[in-house]
Parts: sequence; structure tokens; C-alpha cells
Amino acid sequence: MTGLGWSKLVLFIVVGSALAPRAGADRETPPGRDPKQPVDEAYTEKIHKYTTAPYFTSPLVDYLPASKNVPTPQAVLGDVAGAPGILPYAEDVYRYMRLLEKATPRVKVFSIGKTEEGREMIAVAVSSEENLTNLEENRARLAKLADPRAIKLNDEEADKLVGEAVPIYYITGTIHSPETGAPTALMELAYRLAVDESPYIKEIRDGTITLITPVVEVDGRDRMVDLYKWHLTHPKQFYPWLVYWGKYVAHDNNRDAMGVTLKLTENVLHAYVGWKAQVLHDLHESVPYLYDNTIGDEPYNAWIDPILADEWQVIGWNNVSAMTKFGMPGVFAHGDFDTWSPGYLMFIAALHNGISRLYETFGNGGADTEERTLQPEQYARTWYRQNPPLPKVLWSQRDNNNYEETGLLTSLHFFTENKQRFLKNFYLKAKRSTTKPSEEGPAAYVLPADDPRPALQAELLQVLERQAVEISRATSAFAVTLPAKKPKEPAKEKDRKEEKSPPPAPTRREFPAGSYIIRMDQPYSRIADALLDHQYWSPDDPQKTPYDDTGWTFGELFHVEVARVTDSKVLDIPMDRVTTVHAPGGVKGEGTLFAIMNRAEPALATLRYKLHDASIEAAEEPFESAGRKFNRGSFLVRNTSRADLDRAAAELGVQVTALSVRPEVKTHPVRAARIALVHTWLSTQTEGWWRLALDKLGIPYDYRSTQAIAKISDLNAKYDVILFPPVGYNAGVDAVVNGVPTAWGNPLPWKNTPETPNLVGKNDATDDLRPGLGWDGVAHLQEFVERGGVLLTAMDTSSLALSLGFADGISTQNANKMKIVGSVVEMRLVDDASPIAYGYEEKGAAYCDNGPIFSLSSIAGQRGRRRLGPEMRGRPTGRGSLEDPDFAVGRPGMEAPEERKSEIWESPPVSDEQKRNGFRVIPPPRRPRVIFRYGDGKDLLVSGLIEGGDEIAQHPAVVDAPSGKGHVVLFSINPVYRGETWGTYAMVLNTILNFDSLNAGRKDAAE
Ligand SMILES: [Zn+2]
Repeated sequence: MTGLGWSKLVLFIVVGSALAPRAGADRETPPGRDPKQPVDEAYTEKIHKYTTAPYFTSPLVDYLPASKNVPTPQAVLGDVAGAPGILPYAEDVYRYMRLLEKATPRVKVFSIGKTEEGREMIAVAVSSEENLTNLEENRARLAKLADPRAIKLNDEEADKLVGEAVPIYYITGTIHSPETGAPTALMELAYRLAVDESPYIKEIRDGTITLITPVVEVDGRDRMVDLYKWHLTHPKQFYPWLVYWGKYVAHDNNRDAMGVTLKLTENVLHAYVGWKAQVLHDLHESVPYLYDNTIGDEPYNAWIDPILADEWQVIGWNNVSAMTKFGMPGVFAHGDFDTWSPGYLMFIAALHNGISRLYETFGNGGADTEERTLQPEQYARTWYRQNPPLPKVLWSQRDNNNYEETGLLTSLHFFTENKQRFLKNFYLKAKRSTTKPSEEGPAAYVLPADDPRPALQAELLQVLERQAVEISRATSAFAVTLPAKKPKEPAKEKDRKEEKSPPPAPTRREFPAGSYIIRMDQPYSRIADALLDHQYWSPDDPQKTPYDDTGWTFGELFHVEVARVTDSKVLDIPMDRVTTVHAPGGVKGEGTLFAIMNRAEPALATLRYKLHDASIEAAEEPFESAGRKFNRGSFLVRNTSRADLDRAAAELGVQVTALSVRPEVKTHPVRAARIALVHTWLSTQTEGWWRLALDKLGIPYDYRSTQAIAKISDLNAKYDVILFPPVGYNAGVDAVVNGVPTAWGNPLPWKNTPETPNLVGKNDATDDLRPGLGWDGVAHLQEFVERGGVLLTAMDTSSLALSLGFADGISTQNANKMKIVGSVVEMRLVDDASPIAYGYEEKGAAYCDNGPIFSLSSIAGQRGRRRLGPEMRGRPTGRGSLEDPDFAVGRPGMEAPEERKSEIWESPPVSDEQKRNGFRVIPPPRRPRVIFRYGDGKDLLVSGLIEGGDEIAQHPAVVDAPSGKGHVVLFSINPVYRGETWGTYAMVLNTILNFDSLNAGRKDAAE
């Protein structure tokens, strides 16, 4: 098209839009009170009093409408929402919501489930009486938009439903317990939405159903309120940090939306999907004063519908614009949150065809009014923050509530004004999810019926079940075409011409009857695709600071086969919908001895602990019996009734073969080790995922703090295995051993008292959080290992154990350029005879977050070598080629003795020079044994981001270090993480079950 053509077109567009009926601005309903409705004068006066500057409020919240019959939050709080010194418990918040429900037909309260500690979670619906009366009819309409198959993908039918349906905007508060403002803001918001007769609020009430879960982390909320009360009664003292939030995890409770292992995630997900809501808006507090991170920064998650990315822009910018017009400083979007990981709670909406939203407002971590001083980068004016926060302000909980409520009300209003657009998008996103096989693909994911790990396969499928994904099962065997695999490194142009080898061809793949099929022509195909697909984050990506994990491929992390099938014929094969997935298990065959194949399935450990009286042995070599081949590590079970074993095996999905003859194979006992799990008082979250896993598997353990370890002088009398999971934050010797300084300040108790009745819950208590493991504790752990105990460490606790000299011949190094940010990496099996490796295959995947990098040496006190660049063979500078010997003029040359080679994961052979008076040479039986190593550089990346991976490639990943009569088993990976790494759980469980036979199959060097 010529330049002339363009200008004509532009002219046409300008004229066209001038003639079009004006929408938007001129018809906008102004925010602000209805002068005809009386104001609650006393309440309003308090709002003004607690707001610290006139620009920290808006015309939407600087008054409270009066009502004759509906109680204000004051009825429960004794003061207004956001008043200083007042933080309500969850039950107080619920009591208020139920008072509203009683007083007005515009509010209804629903129970949505319980927490791990048995506390209730609720969702409060606020809307017009008519909307709440017709909830079920409306749900039926929304259900058809949510699942367009119900209307045969008929757009006209959808338009009709869009015209009739009332959308649902779901708000969730205080998932992060130290972020305390949301509950009072949401109490007052519910009141305003139910009572205010101003046209602005009335439009929201009539046009939208606002659904509110005022407290998401209920267990943590009650602990936080306890702590705050303790602080109020001890005003001059330092107060304890919130060392536990929920029973298991703290801040990570907002990283559980992939695995759905926590009750709060499951309950919110069910509420979101059950109500067929369009938005999930989660409230947080960290940065000043309101960061709408909905738009966020790149890279965006690759599995969301682009329609959603556009909705983020539209909603986010409207929010900033509306609040900027109110004159409220410090409201911005974009910022530094990237939208890659789908682990956040609000992302439940993003991958279930809704709109995910998140606010960070400014909280004081309690209800004190305080002077707050910002860092320069926080008040800097940037392209996305033209009206930045002030460098120093007096800030109150009321200010925070004003921002939260104003943001939500402007959002609700904009959403209501555009509800048909958003409902239509909701339908379109669901429709495009359903037509995925014929658009971008794949057609399905298939999990084969002959997977060697059926119990782990069932665990993975149960994640999809919790995500409301439909699962089907093939009723007969079938075959599909798999696309040709591209070679890893494309051949050079020249080579390609010369070789003339045919390009790789597509292959046929057969799947047996009973294989599981995850169809992609279903409304929730996107979440299944996001979890099962692979991730690639380029080291060249302009985003240099990923906000969270970069890789998570569930099939890889569960060690379960998942085939991505693009062949759309897979959708035509006969299949049935499956409502509950359960792995088949039980006893088959005749005999009184029972054999169980070991495929590194965690269920085997559960079985060991369940059948306490049975005697179980592990085979140290593979064997054949009853016409079946059993691999190394397989169980032989005796002294149990067939009925008991059958019942337990059926429940756990474990297949047992009865044998009439005992096979000829060397075995050792598999005992139910007595376990302690050690935690610090610095942070309990990373180990919390380990507790969650052990509890889910029914494996008992004592939960002991580092302070308790310091007081138990004979650990061997109580325990066989001590697990010391990662502390987090790379906590080192100083932090773990010394704890927090006690030379000044006051004790920080973590225990239940009349003013802190909820603090301990089902976890641990102490009179003072500050002391650490101490040198007594270090000595006790060392003695424990010396006398035969097994200490298992991972990541930072591995570095800690090595810094404390717990194991000879291993050192750790800091990475120079390596960047592995929560990625899935390849692992290779090095020593298949070690019990730690029982059931594992040559290749597998694991979760890695930057190491540490282990290196081995057979010389005590010597740092292991480390490869910094590509492998190079060397010789000294001199005459001749690389292979030739050098010689000096005037005498014959001499061949240098052959250097003995070793692999990167091995310790270099002891040299003749080192053997001279070799008191530092570690005797072979005391040298560390490498069980798993990291993959080669080119194969290391499975999913996520790896930069400079050569620094860790081929280095040991799991090492068994003998020490005294015991062992220290050190992990560089994190084998138990966020309920996502089921495939590596058995590395820990194998260590536990074989604690007194870890040397089985050990081969020592000759010298
Ligand atoms: Zn937060």
C-alpha cells in the first residue's frame, strides 16, 4: 500500500470514530456518596481521624453510609475498619459477615472447607437481593459459558447467556499472614456493597456478584493476631517473628497452585471453579502504596490465552488511571513481577479461563500507625510510576484499607461497566481451550497403562483431578503417530549435503488398553498443558531476575511417562471418563513369601511403616522368581498375613507377587527407622514441604528444633535417621549454630499463653526463638553419626554439614556464573548398587536451585577440582604436537607418565607423590560414594533456565559419605519440594529404609 493509501485509511478511521455513538467517558457514573442517603457521622469521623494525609483516601471510602438495620464493622471490631491497635481473628471476621447475612438479603455466607488445623474457610457473596435469590439459575448460565460444549460452541447462544448472566468477581484476603490489612478492608467493603445507595455502588451491586474470602490462610491469621496481641501487651519489647504461618508452609502458600497440596489452595480452587467466577483477585501487602501486579512484567506464562494478557492490560491500566484521578499517590502497574510461573493462588483463574489479579498494598505488619521511610528505588519516578510514593510518611492500617477498598471498588465498577465484554471473553477463552487440538495443539497427553510406576502415575493424575481436569481411559489398545524428533544439534549445511541421510521420520507409538488420556478438547485443557509441557527460559531473556521457579514439568518431576500427542486421531479412540484415579494393587499368586518390585515408588515406604510386624528384606541383586524378573532393591516380605498385606497393597496401589520358593539372592533387612526431622527457628517453610510429604505418606517422625538437638546428648538412643532439610536463604554456620543474637534484647517466646492461644498449633514451641543449634548441638549430631546414625542433608544444610567437617573428601564451591533458578535438571545414576538408588533408572529428573556444587577428593582437607571451561587435554609448552613428548636440546626426550583419568564426579586417583608419607590419604572404605550426578552439560536442562550449567554439570548430586560408624547423605538437589517432586522422594525414603545397610554393594578403590 502506498503512503497516499495509508493516509486515506487513517482519515477514514478518524472520521468513522467521530461519527460513532460516544461511549464511555460521558456516560461514566461519578464515584461518591448519594447526598440523599445519610452518613454514619461517628464512623466517618473516625475514618478521617485514622487517615494520616488527605491524599491517602478517595471519594469512595472517605465516608460510611448509615443503615438502620445493618451493623457496621464497629459492631465486631469496637472501632472502624483499619483502626490502630485492632486486628480481628478470622472467627471475628466471620461473625461480622454472618451478622451482615442476618441483617440483609444482599449478603450470603458459604463455608468452603477447613484448614489443616481444622479452622473454617468461608466465601461471602454480596450482590442485589434478586441476584442472590437467583444464584442457582445464574450458576447454570455461567456453567454453560464455562463449558461451551454444553451449548455446542454456539456463539449466538453464548451471546444470549452473556446478556442474561451476572458475572462473579472473587476477592481473596490475607493469604500471607504478616500482610494483615485485608480482613478489615473486606469487612467494610462488604458493608458498603450491601448498604451504599450511591449510583456507583448500586451499579456494582446490581451488575456483579462480589465473592469474598476474607481470610485465606486462617491458621496463620490467628497466629499473627496472637503475635500482635503479645506485642500490644509488651509494647517496649521486641516481638517474635511469625515462624509458622500454616501448619506446613509460610510464604510458599502462594506457590501451591500447581501441586494443590494445601487445603487453602484446594478450597479456593473449588470455590473458584464451582462458582464459575470470572476473576480471582488476591490481596497482598509489601510495596508502597498500591502495586497492581496484574499486568506485571515479561516473560508471560506461555500457556495462557492471549485474550487474558489483553484483559490484564485493560483492567490494570484502568485501575491506575482511576486512582491517579483521585489524587492518590504511589499507584502503579507493571513493576518487577513476571507472569511466568503458574504457582500463585490467583493463577488458578489464569489457567481456568478467568482473569487473575493481584495487589500489593503497603502494610505495617500489624495495626500500629508508624513512620515509614522508603528506599530511593521505592520512591523513584519510573515510566510505569509517574506519581510515585513519598520518601517518608506516617502510615496507618486505615490508609492501607483506604487503598485496598478504593482499588477494589474502582475495579468492580469497571468490571461491571464492561461485564458483557468480560463474560464474552470468559466464554471465548473456554471455547478456545476446547478447540485447542485443532488450533495450536496438542490433541492430548497420554500416560501409558504400562508405566512401571503406576502409584506415582496415580499421584500425578490426582493433581490433575484436583485441578478439575477431565481424565479419560482408553478401553482398547491404540496407536498414534508421533512427530519426527529434531536432532539436538542441527547438521551444518555442508555436512547435510554430503551425508544424504534421510530426515528423521515420524514414528508410530502403541499404547495398551487402560492408558490414561488427557484430552485437550476440554475447557480446562490449559492448566493440564501448562503442568505437563516443558518450559524453556532463555539465558538471553531480557528478564534477568525470575520471580520464582522457571521449570516444573510434572511428568519429569514425578518420574512418570507423559506422551505429548499431536495426532488428533487420539481423540477418536474409544475411552471412558474416569472420576477417581487409583493405582491397582494387591497380592497375586500362591505362596507365603511375597515379592514387591522396587521402582522407587514412595508407597513402598508407606507399606513398610504400615506393616510394622512384617519382616521385610531388600534384594541386593536382581533375581527371577515365579517367572518374573525383579530388580535390585525389590522387597521380600514375610511374617504377615496375606489378607493384611493384600489390604494395604490395594490401598497403596502396590503390586505384590506371592512366591512359593525363596529366591537365591543376597538380602538385607528393611527396617522402619526411627526418624527425627530437624528444623531451625529461623525459617520453617522449606522443611515444611518435607513434613507435608512424610505426613501424606504416613511415615512417622519426631519434629525437633535445633535447640532440642542441643539438649539430647544421646541421639542414637532415640533415632536411626536424622533428616535436616534445607533451612532456606542459604543459612550458614553462623545463622544455624549461633542463631539470632541473644547478647541484647529480650527473649522471643513461641508458645501458647492466655494472650497467644493459637501460636503453637500442631507444631513446635520454645521459650526463646533466638538460640540456634549451638556447639553442643553440633557435637551431638557429630556423635550421632560417629556412633552409626544416618544424617541426611540437602542444599544449604549439606553445605553446613561440610563446613562443620562432618564428612571427609567432599567440598562445596560457589558458582561463578551459574544461574539455575528453580529448574528441572537431568540426573544420572552412578552407583546402582547403593540402596539409595534402589528402583531408579539410568536417567531421571530432579529439582535444582543453584547447587551447591560438590567435588570429591581422596585427600583429606583438599578442595576438589572443578571444571571451569570445556574439557581440554594439556601438555607443557614445547616442541612437537599435542601428542608428542618435549625434549631439551642436548639430551633425549622422555615420555611423561600417563596421567590417570577420572570423571568429574569421581575423586581424582591418588598420585604417587600424594602416597609418599600419605597421612592425608583417605582410606578407600572411608571415601564418599557418589550415587547420582548431574547430567552432562548439553543434557542438563530438562525444563526452566540454566545459564553457565557447565559449572555443575557431571558433578555429584547425591553423595553417601561414611563417617565413623554412620553416614552423612548429602543432596545438592532438593528432593522434596512443594509437592511437585514425587519422583525424587524415594531417594530420601531409600536412605531411611536402608539406614543400617547403606554400604550394601559398595565397591572400594584398590588404593
Ligand atoms: Zn504477599
